[in-house]
Amino acid sequence: MAIARQADLPLDFDAIIIGAGMSGMYQLHRLRELGLRVRVFEAGTNVGGTWYWNRYPGARFDSESYSYGFSFSRELLQEWEWSEHFAGQPETLRYCNYVADRFDLRRDIQFKSRVSAAIYEEMTRSWTITLENGERFSARFLITAIGPLSTPTLPRIEGRDSFAGQSFHTARWPHEPVDFKGKRVAVIGTGATGVQTIQTIAGEVGHLTVFQRTPNWCAPLHNGKIDAETQKKIKAGYPEIFARCQETFACFLHTPDPRGAFEVSDEEREAFYEKLYAERGFGIWQGNFKDILIDRRANATISDFVARKIRQRVKDQRVAEKLIPRNHGFGTRRLPLETFYYEVYNRDNVELVDLMETPIERITPKGIKIREGEYQFDIIIYATGFDAITGSFDKIDFRGRDGVLLKEKWKHGPETYLGLMVDGFPNMMMLMGPHTALGNIPRSIEYSVDWVTGLMRFAQERKLTRLEATAEGVESWTDHVKALGAGLLSNEVNSWMTGINSNVEGKQTRIVARYSGSAPAYRARCDEVAAKGYDELLLT
Ligand SMILES: Cc1cc2nc3c(=O)[nH]c(=O)nc-3n(C[C@H](O)[C@H](O)[C@H](O)COP(=O)(O)OP(=O)(O)OC[C@H]3O[C@@H](n4cnc5c(N)ncnc54)[C@H](O)[C@@H]3O)c2cc1C
Repeated sequence: MAIARQADLPLDFDAIIIGAGMSGMYQLHRLRELGLRVRVFEAGTNVGGTWYWNRYPGARFDSESYSYGFSFSRELLQEWEWSEHFAGQPETLRYCNYVADRFDLRRDIQFKSRVSAAIYEEMTRSWTITLENGERFSARFLITAIGPLSTPTLPRIEGRDSFAGQSFHTARWPHEPVDFKGKRVAVIGTGATGVQTIQTIAGEVGHLTVFQRTPNWCAPLHNGKIDAETQKKIKAGYPEIFARCQETFACFLHTPDPRGAFEVSDEEREAFYEKLYAERGFGIWQGNFKDILIDRRANATISDFVARKIRQRVKDQRVAEKLIPRNHGFGTRRLPLETFYYEVYNRDNVELVDLMETPIERITPKGIKIREGEYQFDIIIYATGFDAITGSFDKIDFRGRDGVLLKEKWKHGPETYLGLMVDGFPNMMMLMGPHTALGNIPRSIEYSVDWVTGLMRFAQERKLTRLEATAEGVESWTDHVKALGAGLLSNEVNSWMTGINSNVEGKQTRIVARYSGSAPAYRARCDEVAAKGYDELLLT
């Protein structure tokens, strides 16, 4: 049954979803259950979002694979087998394709269709979207699933287009293999993506030069194959795995230790850090003492521990010192997980250039020029990340009631209701936009999609055609998100999590872009709204 229309003008769809990553795929599946006519518009040529675009060498999870996949279908969980504890990108892309086929999603997804504008029309209570090729489509509801990390950014370096060799951004990697054999390669950027790329290609290239601006604290991933016995345990244990993800702060399998760093002796603390350093995944970040991300002294103990590890693993102590972060504490930026990353710098064919000492002056046809001279390269890899969280919103001309531009409304930082809606933008719902719980993201995706689906069902049953957040609701949630961020060491650090991107104009001031409370608290608040019949919304 289609949702009743306010005006007689026919609409193309009941709902339009922008983006066919994990969020858009699951939202499509759930809205079909309501019998709605849905169309997904996706810029890429296939499903998968993050896992479609990020084909760079070594791209892989740092969520445990079995905690990342969809949990909504028991059959799917039993059919799919993850081969590694932290699957590589090709496997995850295969998984996304499997899901799309399994649930017959493709027939409602229009690929190669980048949305450039989305305009709300009050008379018809509907949204009209425009694609880059000028095509237009209308729908009562608009759901954004455009990704928190999906708009890549390139550094603002003079001469970038003059380079005569090959150059790639990691998130726009070609679909064909890149031949590194014997090549002189530059990697610019040492965030999570740079780390994965560097450790993967170092053994293959002729010579690798890493251009580092800000070193990041990294910790070992400890990946491994999943053997048959473990596979069986995982499949039998899915209910417990997902129940645990529901309980933890950020939906990972790891949860903070209830003790403070100084509640134990120095020896116990050291032994605990050794144990975490030897364990798989994000335990050292998400399962550490409860105060390391809020108390400077506590944070200094783990920062000091990891700094010692770096000094032990890197032979040349001058290089080791360059790899140790000075401007932020351990875990206050997104933690890259690595596999022999530090050992890469012990290789004869690898060189580290510290851009804090010697900034890049320009890119030339032959390579990269710094003060000391010109490096010549065959390939330059930009591992320079994303215009995170709000970047994909800024790329679309979203106009709400009375023609208000979303970018303008958010010019001092995003303002949202539960991270899901915005006042003045009726009938628009956001998945994994600003101010929502992220963490182990598919767990948050499933929750948000189910919440949106619940609201749509509510509207359908009552023949509601207009759903809008109130200005008070938005103010109150935005204030709450800001208050939660106060006192967190991570909010005192420049990073994509605080909205800083030196390569994007207007993103030099810190904002509170993400919800930093616990996922259970987030869900409880959203559940409460639903249980009270969404009475905090304007519904007509
Ligand atoms: C390298 C990398 C590794 C990651 N590893 C992890 C991990 O281990 N664990 C974890 O929890 N998260 C991880 N993430 C975060 C990851 O983004 C999420 O887990 C998840 O995939 C987000 O899904 P999504 O559908 O919300 O967004 P995305 O996967 O980003 O999909 C958004 C889609 O929207 C499309 N789109 C955007 N704008 C438009 C437009 N205007 N018109 C049409 N289409 C548009 C994009 O093309 C894209 O396909 C990682 C991210 C990256 C980049």
